[in-house]
Amino acid sequence: MLFIQTIIVTTAVFLNPNVYDGISIVNVQIENPTQLLLLREGGARSLTCFDQAGETPMLLDEASIKQIKKLGIKFNIIETNIDERIRRFDQLREEARNNRLGGWYSDYKTWGEVNIKLQALEDGAPDIATTFIVGQTHEGRDIHGIRISAPGNTEGRKQVLFNGCQHAREWVAVMVPTYAAEHLVEGWSNDPEVQTYLETTEVIIVPIVNPDGYEFTYAPGGDRYWRKNRRNNSGSCEGVDLNRNWDYDWNGGDSTSTSTCSDIYVGPNVFSEPETQAMRDLINTLPNLVSHVDFHSYSQLILEPWASSNNPPPRVNIVKALSSSMSEAIAGVHGETYVAGTGGDLLYLADGVFPDWTTNGGSLSYTIELRPTGSPGFELPPGEIIPTCEESYAAVKAMLQFVNQPLTFSFPNGVPQFADQGSVVEFPMHIESIFDEPIDTNTTTLHVRFGNNGTFATRHISQNLDDSFTVELPTSFCDLEGEYWFSVATQDGLTVRYPAGEEVLRVSIATTARQWNMDQNPNWTMEGQWGWGAPTGGGGSYGNPDPTSGATGNNVLGYNLNGDYQNNLSETYLTTETVDLSDRTNTQLQFKRYLNVEQPVYDHASVSVRAGNGSWSTVWSNQSTIEDDQWQTVAYDISSVADAQPEVQIRWTMGTTDSAWTYSGWNIDDIEILSSGGAGVVGDINCDGVINVTDILLVVGGWGPCNNHCAQDVIPDGTINVLDLLHVIGNW
Ligand SMILES: [Zn+2]
Repeated sequence: MLFIQTIIVTTAVFLNPNVYDGISIVNVQIENPTQLLLLREGGARSLTCFDQAGETPMLLDEASIKQIKKLGIKFNIIETNIDERIRRFDQLREEARNNRLGGWYSDYKTWGEVNIKLQALEDGAPDIATTFIVGQTHEGRDIHGIRISAPGNTEGRKQVLFNGCQHAREWVAVMVPTYAAEHLVEGWSNDPEVQTYLETTEVIIVPIVNPDGYEFTYAPGGDRYWRKNRRNNSGSCEGVDLNRNWDYDWNGGDSTSTSTCSDIYVGPNVFSEPETQAMRDLINTLPNLVSHVDFHSYSQLILEPWASSNNPPPRVNIVKALSSSMSEAIAGVHGETYVAGTGGDLLYLADGVFPDWTTNGGSLSYTIELRPTGSPGFELPPGEIIPTCEESYAAVKAMLQFVNQPLTFSFPNGVPQFADQGSVVEFPMHIESIFDEPIDTNTTTLHVRFGNNGTFATRHISQNLDDSFTVELPTSFCDLEGEYWFSVATQDGLTVRYPAGEEVLRVSIATTARQWNMDQNPNWTMEGQWGWGAPTGGGGSYGNPDPTSGATGNNVLGYNLNGDYQNNLSETYLTTETVDLSDRTNTQLQFKRYLNVEQPVYDHASVSVRAGNGSWSTVWSNQSTIEDDQWQTVAYDISSVADAQPEVQIRWTMGTTDSAWTYSGWNIDDIEILSSGGAGVVGDINCDGVINVTDILLVVGGWGPCNNHCAQDVIPDGTINVLDLLHVIGNW
């Protein structure tokens, strides 16, 4: 829903930013970067770290509110008394300080307090922790850092940088790197993992890159919502956005401004600021910098490079493997989701940012946006400081672990959860050396067994011409879950296993509980323009038109078989008959999808499931714009709702939609409900549930090499031999 306007919003520059009189916090529905630019030129300030589409809290005066009303931009005033809002937050902080439940981390800490903390860490462990001054600011403050590594000569060790607070108002982004420093120092005496990392790695932490701005957010007469540093621009407005001042696509026009009053002012030249110069000079003394995190708040994102373009970064598979490993580590602590993805995928592009510069220098670099996901934004309640620090520290450790392993496995299409019995499932795999330790591709091996005991068969995986690997995973003939893992050696002879440690991957045998191929009308409950029949290739005023046939056969279930969905649609349902799954476990819904829908700020498509008259639980909803131009198979785990239930229903929803931009909506074909019982018996050949002389005779009768995959090959190494015989006998 593009909004094209060439109107200039009337100027309302905030001459005195510490006075919020007449200014409100307004949620503005941002539809494109141009809108934000226009609003900023009118003096508006966005209360987010990065720009993106959708509901954006902004500081607006009354004139600007009138203007956006006139322009037809959707908005919602959420706070008219900002001083009162700040007072309420101060009260929360005071209570937290009095409770002291989180010790030092009970409340946010000033620049001075953080410096004292860093000094105390060094004093408590001078053999591993050394504080240092990175440089000075415009106002003459020192930027403090700390280096942490095992005693001895650190030369040649890998170097990893964590920093916080380029942006002054993002207070929790100060607490997180400080917490990481404290726990790495402590970990040296009580955490074997940390001990291992510090032997090989030097960790450099700079909690506050922007001390002047940070102090200004606390100062009487300052501004709680100050973002930039405090450069005197010799005019009405101070400050440069440090995270736009780096020498990578500096002043490139994506979320940048050359207006001194803008919150995203790039500065008079590249690296014009003492703070960015100091950090640059520090990094230039780190010859082995392998990875970097720049902490910000808020939104709960792990942003991969590039911020400034949609091009893939160098070593893209490794970049993605590390961000998923950090995201999983974070989720493992308090269950919070930090979405990993590129800046360009998740946000508007932004030029001249710090991690793009370190990426360009060869480091694996990320921006982590900390808690919360949205409101209350920068006012994260003090009680959430500790949990935010805990989960972020897990990401810090995940990064240290990652850069200390020689290579990484990745699976562009994921790994299969379900497969047909007796099949060989093919899926792509990449193995890449993270640094300079080449892989011995002759050693790439799949280890697989059926059930949960006995020897793992080994199968060599040969490399494709494009350097990828194609895994050929055999599955059990008798409804047994498969367990598998991979190994490969480096040319130095070090063997690496995936998954790490003792973990294995699992694949279940799918059996079809019900299926509908849409050759006949299933006569389900269809509201609005839901219908059964042949799609006609209509619609597509945005996105792609409908298909012209089903995935198989001519017919589908679809929303408006002849074109787009409507504007201002309410939730409109397609609901299945009730399905009896009372004897089923591990149920999964699979279907073919051809869907076009705008991003969920505006338009919605979803799938839900319920048992009996219970409430509907959402299985899937669009998290972005979807523009299918071919049929694709999608599958969702519905076991928590549907397993062992006699009356299960599935529901597809079209809507709600907003007042502009229409897409061609849902087309659905070949719906299946799959389940797996795992009822097989280990070592059973003929799947009769017992192991007896018949099974022995089958093994003997099939003796010899087995092309592809055979039932008698119960240790699936490709040969029917004594191993299989012993496995059958062993499970007698
Ligand atoms: Zn930020």
